[in-house]
Amino acid sequence: MARDLSPKCKQCRREGTKLFLKGERCLTEKCAFERRSYPPGQHGRGRIKQSEYLLQLREKQKARRTYRLLEKQFRSYYEKAARKSGVTGENLLRILETRLDNVVYRLGFAASRDQARQLVRHGHFLVNGRRVNIPSYQVKTNDIVALRTGSPAEPAVREATDLTASVAAWLQADHDGLTGKILKLPDRAEIDTAVQESLIVELYSK
Ligand code: SF4
Repeated sequence: MARDLSPKCKQCRREGTKLFLKGERCLTEKCAFERRSYPPGQHGRGRIKQSEYLLQLREKQKARRTYRLLEKQFRSYYEKAARKSGVTGENLLRILETRLDNVVYRLGFAASRDQARQLVRHGHFLVNGRRVNIPSYQVKTNDIVALRTGSPAEPAVREATDLTASVAAWLQADHDGLTGKILKLPDRAEIDTAVQESLIVELYSK
């Protein structure tokens, strides 16, 4: 599957916020955003004229890059969210949060969403006892996510748990047993992704 291969730190600088794309490095003083928090490029430190469209575009790009999705995938999630009842922006974030790769990351079993995606794709995780190697798999309430017994990824997963300060309130993680449970689907207040989802909805609903 195609991936966004542009340099990760540049993506953070472009979006004006830390997207935590590089695992442990993001938590250290080596973080490029900590050292150069202005946009990349020759005109990075110049004044950028903000338009309504630009603000909406940046929020969409920020969310898309945070969850490591290409435009086509992101747009199809928006369309799915718009078809559901309730607030479209919140529906969108809830769908993104309940992807299996994101859940593995949120449980603290991977240092970044990219690492989580690779672990899932390589079949290291089980959902309710069955191997699932589809990163976009949508988890449901009461699902149990666990590292496969005997997985060679165990040292890397344990290392990631050491970096995890806290686990989202809608999840329950057992970092000794390397299992986790989906307690409920997240409310907006329980999703700490710093995006204004209403601007994304405005952009796509034009
Ligand atoms: Fe972003 Fe800093 Fe991590 Fe680079 S090191 S991906 S700039 S948070």
